[in-house]
Amino acid sequence: MKTKPMLAVLCALIAPWIATETMGGDPRPRPNILFIMADDHAFQAVSSYGGMLSKIAPTPNIDRIAESGARFDSVFCNNSICGPSRAAILTGKFSHMNRFYKNEGGGDFDGSQQTFPKLLQAAGYQTAVIGKWHLGTAPTGFDYSKVFFNNAGQGTYWDPVFQINGKELVTESQFHSTRQVANDAIQWLDAGRDKTKPFMLMYQFKAPHRNWDPDPAYKELFADIEIPEPETFNDRYEGRRAAADQWLSIEHDLTRLDLKQIPPSELKGEELKKWLHWGVRNQFWTPDPSLKGQALKQWKYQRYIKDYLRCVRGVDDAVGRMLDYLEENGLAENTIVIYTSDQGFYLGEHGWFDKRFMYEESFRMPFLMRWPGHIEPGTVNTDLLMNVDFAPTLLAAAGVSIPADIQGQSFANGSPGRKAVYYHYYEFPFWHRVQPHYGIRTDRYKLIHFYYSMDEWELFDLKNDPNELKNLIQDPAYEEVLKKMKIELKEQQQACGDTMSLEEMRAMTDARIDRIYESK
Ligand code: CA
Repeated sequence: MKTKPMLAVLCALIAPWIATETMGGDPRPRPNILFIMADDHAFQAVSSYGGMLSKIAPTPNIDRIAESGARFDSVFCNNSICGPSRAAILTGKFSHMNRFYKNEGGGDFDGSQQTFPKLLQAAGYQTAVIGKWHLGTAPTGFDYSKVFFNNAGQGTYWDPVFQINGKELVTESQFHSTRQVANDAIQWLDAGRDKTKPFMLMYQFKAPHRNWDPDPAYKELFADIEIPEPETFNDRYEGRRAAADQWLSIEHDLTRLDLKQIPPSELKGEELKKWLHWGVRNQFWTPDPSLKGQALKQWKYQRYIKDYLRCVRGVDDAVGRMLDYLEENGLAENTIVIYTSDQGFYLGEHGWFDKRFMYEESFRMPFLMRWPGHIEPGTVNTDLLMNVDFAPTLLAAAGVSIPADIQGQSFANGSPGRKAVYYHYYEFPFWHRVQPHYGIRTDRYKLIHFYYSMDEWELFDLKNDPNELKNLIQDPAYEEVLKKMKIELKEQQQACGDTMSLEEMRAMTDARIDRIYESK
């Protein structure tokens, strides 16, 4: 896509959005909202954002949203794992307020609380969620829901079981999960909704989540090429103790199942499971005894990244089908379209897969948005924004008043003018032994405190060190910066009400809240 010069970028704020309900006499109907979200889709794998994968593995359909609308470059999640980010998006509140703060042992989402789909539904919108939900309890606030139910709500790439409207279970065996979700979403738009009302559809893929199992239609993609390794592929984590102590390395923590190894045919049941999941935490395996060390790490990366990017291609095609549907059915002009992911992901950076850390690759979310007549095509926005801002922004765009207890800020009428974004991650040790931490990021610096079973602070200068390799916490030249960042951190914590003691934070990590909403 076209990138604008810096001055234009700074000036290219979104045109003031018009809440048609308050415009008395404005004949335009309220906008429809199509909220598309993938799972674990890193901005590095969206070609709009450029980068080393943009030519090798382009996403032309997702890019259409940015070309006809805006690409947002500084959107961050509050807590970089699936359920907690989704809960923050729905409620516009941070994890400690909506109480869904970890996937493992964190219970289920309290669906009786206020969410933006409920508020839109009450304001006359037809609402639906199709695809991944992953919050335990059945969706509330939707006229129609068809969400993954099996595999503890993760769903599966093949033969996924869906729950429809919180009741009926159906197994879909004809298509890959991405294609199935696309079919279902188009079907609902076409024949499932009340067309006299505006709609808000959450169209949410399982892909490209682990174990990255693409549709066979894409299996030859990238077959003859080698994907380059990111600059930090061989990071040695000097000066960053938490980064050195984790279970998300490509070299040590990918399983045979992740890398599609074929098990010996005689293995069955538990033995088979054990074989497939071997490797999950530092268990050595190699497909070939002569393949070891760095060469083995490189081989694993190629296997991993190619399947990941094949899953992305499936998502891109499904987005294209949907955009075509909107255009062919006269819906494109009055539909806000958003493309995002519940968080980012490591695609080999720091030698990792997965997410959770407050480093850029997993903290940042891809976020593209079009709204004809309101956002100038080709806009690039660099305001500091968060996932908790989505709910108030969409409410404002729909002309619905924003309840005072929503913590996010609408960017519907331009920048909320945030000085910093706030982050807090709680889950430990499962699944990837990432130390609980909180922190802030400004447009230049990042301060992180890893507090659970260590007491480590990290300070990065993102301008001079965008890869976050040099921890400046002890650097005398940054003493003033550190002082200011610690004051800003306290202000951010006060502002969002995250003022727990370290003991209370650790107790949240230690708590094991059963899931009452069990899937098979
Ligand atoms: Ca996710």
